[in-house]
Amino acid sequence: MTQMEKSRRKDLQAIIDRDYDYRTYSDDDVVVAEVGKHGLGLFANRQFLPGELVIEISGQVLRQDEYGASSYVMELSKKLYLEPGIPGAFANHSCNPNSELIRLTKYTMGLVAICNLEAGTEICYDYQWPALEWIPRCRCNSPNCRGWVVAEKEISKMKKIAKRKSSKQNGKKSRAH
Ligand SMILES: [Zn+2]
Repeated sequence: MTQMEKSRRKDLQAIIDRDYDYRTYSDDDVVVAEVGKHGLGLFANRQFLPGELVIEISGQVLRQDEYGASSYVMELSKKLYLEPGIPGAFANHSCNPNSELIRLTKYTMGLVAICNLEAGTEICYDYQWPALEWIPRCRCNSPNCRGWVVAEKEISKMKKIAKRKSSKQNGKKSRAH
C-alpha cells in the first residue's frame, strides 16, 4: 500500500529535479507505525538522501468553500486544497523537521528529505499553520519547539489567541500533533 510504483516515482522525481534542483535517486518506501503515546507516524523504511522524494501525497482535492470543518488540509493553490490520504496523512509535525512539503503536481504534494534519513527515522515536516482558534499545541520535543504547530511568523498572533482563550476558559486543553 505504501509502495510507490517505480515508474511513477521516476516521473515524479524528474519533476523535483526540474523544478527544485534536488538530486536524483530512485526507489521505495515508507511505513506507518506507532509513535510513543501520540498515535501513528510515518517512518522511512530505507535510507533517503537529502533532496530525495520520500513520498507523494495524494488525497481528496477540495475547494476552499468545501473544506470548512477539516483542520488538516494542504494548500494546492489559492482555490484548491488537498486533504491528504494514507499514508501521507500520518506524517507528523516537527519544529525541527527532516523533510519539506512541496507542490509536486497539480493535485499532489510531496515530502522531500532535507537531511539524511536513516531507515527507521520518523518522517516529519513543519506544518507552518496559520494561528488558529483551537490552539494546536506542539509536542515535538525539539529543543527549538515553538510550542504550537504554527509558522514562526504567526507565533505572536497565536500567543494572543492563547492568552485570550486561557483567560476565558481556564484549563480546557486542546492538542495537536
Ligand atoms: Zn514543536
